[in-house]
This record gives sequence, structure tokens and C-alpha cells, in this order.
Amino acid sequence: MKDSKEITLFIDTYNSNHSDAVLMVADYLSNNQNSSAEIIVSEKNQLNLKIMNNNVEGYLDLDFDLNSNTNDELKNFFIGLIYQARERLGSDFPKTNIEKDIENSLHSISFYSEVSETKIISKNIKEIVFKGDFTKLETQNGDDFLFVIVPLDKNKTNLDRDYSMENYRKQISDEIKITAGAYYTIRNFREDEIKMWFVLHSHSGNLGNWAEKAKTGDQAILWGPRSMFSPSKKFSHLILIADETGIPAMKVISENNKNFSKCTTFYEVIDESCQIPTKGENNILENWIYREGDEPGEGEKLLDSLKVYELPKNDFYIFGAGEARQMMKIRKFFKNEGVAKEQMHITGYWKK
Ligand SMILES: Cc1cc2nc3c(=O)[nH]c(=O)nc-3n(C[C@H](O)[C@H](O)[C@H](O)COP(=O)(O)OP(=O)(O)OC[C@H]3O[C@@H](n4cnc5c(N)ncnc54)[C@H](O)[C@@H]3O)c2cc1C
Repeated sequence: MKDSKEITLFIDTYNSNHSDAVLMVADYLSNNQNSSAEIIVSEKNQLNLKIMNNNVEGYLDLDFDLNSNTNDELKNFFIGLIYQARERLGSDFPKTNIEKDIENSLHSISFYSEVSETKIISKNIKEIVFKGDFTKLETQNGDDFLFVIVPLDKNKTNLDRDYSMENYRKQISDEIKITAGAYYTIRNFREDEIKMWFVLHSHSGNLGNWAEKAKTGDQAILWGPRSMFSPSKKFSHLILIADETGIPAMKVISENNKNFSKCTTFYEVIDESCQIPTKGENNILENWIYREGDEPGEGEKLLDSLKVYELPKNDFYIFGAGEARQMMKIRKFFKNEGVAKEQMHITGYWKK
């Protein structure tokens, strides 16, 4: 199978975090209303949907051969199915989260900004303050994130004030690119200022490298916002899990969200210097797990600490973000513990 690890990750993410879209595609293809649906891979590496209807199990062949297609082709194929399903089902099926996200991104705005200040927060986190006119930016006060676009070589490229996401997308397939981009969470926000926390990872990463050298006057385009944290109902206990990339999101959610009475966090960080205090008055219990000799995204210490944690009996919601395969393992663990898909959203923020 081509891209087998990537494809496993894609299927697991869809089954867990986009199960509403998988069900809509199943209803469309079977011309029936099913109670659940799951993407599976057959022994011959064909893509199938396993459906449940009135407690009867069924299978739909999606006519997609994983032996000869890449992960990107799979992504496009599935998005195509979602569009076809919507066209056929119209308002008979509620809008799925992925459709809401696509719709929201159509309203996203590109903001020109310049770095006004930087500060070292911990051994591997640098706060970057962006100045600009953000009056049109509307946030949910949760895990709102923006796509940060920066010049690859600031000595050669001066970003136009109206450089946009469209310009960025157009140059992606060019042999020589002039900008790079990645998602970052808004830690603090005012009409003329945005603060973000960048993880300085020692790998050669475009945004990581940019952040390491970032100084006053450096240009960036910020595009968005989008968000993922959207539990379907109120709950009393919120459980947050993250590595350093997810800390800004988890901090904003735990400090501002009024929908829970208790919050327990699990943060995997490089060492004690990352133990960043939480603001606000919510009832938050923070667990800090130090990576010590482990490489980011590779260790088992975070998962081990979740294994010994006693989950609340009910009425809880889990939100997690970090390295994609590490998060997949954590998702699998909670699934085996009986946590329902609707009760958790655990997502990959970066890939090893
Ligand atoms: C919704 C969302 C919100 C996010 N919010 C934040 C945030 O607030 N702060 C933040 O720092 N990141 C955040 N991230 C993660 C960030 O977008 C990724 O880490 C991104 O890959 C960084 O881009 P890059 O150009 O530095 O590296 P890439 O070019 O993507 O990757 C280059 C190399 O660096 C490695 N790498 C990338 N990120 C890391 C890392 N964190 N640790 C170790 N190795 C890494 C990759 O495995 C690869 O080998 C968020 C991601 C998402 C999807």
C-alpha cells in the first residue's frame, strides 16, 4: 500500500473526528439512513465502508484502490464524496463539521502584520507579538488559530500589504517558493495586536526557523480564524491533553470557557521551564509530564500518565492536540476505554 502510515492516520482521523461526514457518505451511497458507518480497508487494500443499519452490519465498496493511490488522492476522493453526498441529500442530513469548517474558511480574512515584540517564554517556546489592524477578526475565545505566512528569505522578499492566502496557494506548486506557512493559535488578542507562542523545534522547519530569528519589523500575513473546539453539549469536566504546540489552545480554552466546573490538563513538555502558569479563576488541575530524553512526539510518558488517570464517571469531554501519531494512539486508548466519539476530539497539530 502506498503511503500506508499516512493512510492509516487519515482513516483513523476521519472515523474519530469526522464520523458525521463518514455517515453522510454512507447514507448517500447506500440510499438509506444508517445508524453508524466506519471507513475500513479490505484484505485486498480496497477502501470500504462498514455500516450498521437496524443492528445489521453491511459493507460498501468505495471503488478506491489503496495499492495504486496516494494519501493526497485519497483525501481528494473523500472530499469529492462529501460534496456528492451533500448534493444528493440536501438538507436531509445535518451539516457536518468538515462542511462547517470549509464554509467558515470562505469567510477567512488575510491580515497584514509586523512583529512588534518577542519574548522567550520557556526553553522551546517564543512569544511573538504581531501588530496590525485586526478589527475585523472575530474569535470564539477558544482554540482560534490563524495560518501564518512568512517570506522564506526576508532579505529577498518584501511582502505586499495585500499578499493573501490566494497568493500563497498559487505558489505552492512552483519550483521556487517565496513564502511558507503553518497554523498557529491566538494566545492573546486585541484590535491592534495578536500574541502567539511558537515552538522552537530543532528540525529544519520553515516557520520554526522563522520564529527562532523573528525580530521587530518582520512581516507576516495572518489568515483566518478557524477553530476546532466545539463540544456538542455542555459537560461538567473538561480534560485537555497537549504537547507544547497545543498549550496556547488549551490555556485559552481552560482560562475562558465557562461551560465546565472542573478542568484537568495533561501537558507533555520538554522540561520544567515549560510549566507555564494558567491565568483566570477556573477550577483547573494541571499535570505536567516532562519528556526528558524522549524526542517530541515519540515518547510514551503522556499516554502512560493517561493510563493511570481515573476518568470521571460521566459528563466529561476530552480535547487533545499534538503530534499526529501520538494523538492517534491516545484516541485509540480512550476508544478502548469506552469513550464515545462525540465525547472527544483529539487531533494532530504536526507530523513527525
Ligand atoms: C490548528 C493548529 C494550531 C497550532 N497551533 C500552534 C501553536 O500555537 N504553536 C506552535 O508552535 N505550533 C502550533 N501548531 C503546529 C504547527 O503548525 C506545526 O508544528 C508546523 O508543522 C510548524 O511548521 P514548520 O514550518 O516549523 O515545520 P514543518 O515544515 O511543518 O516541518 C519540518 C520538520 O519539523 C518537524 N516539526 C514540526 N513541528 C514540530 C514541533 N512542534 N516539534 C518538533 N518537530 C516539529 C516536522 O516533523 C518536520 O520534520 C498548530 C497546528 C495546528 C493544525
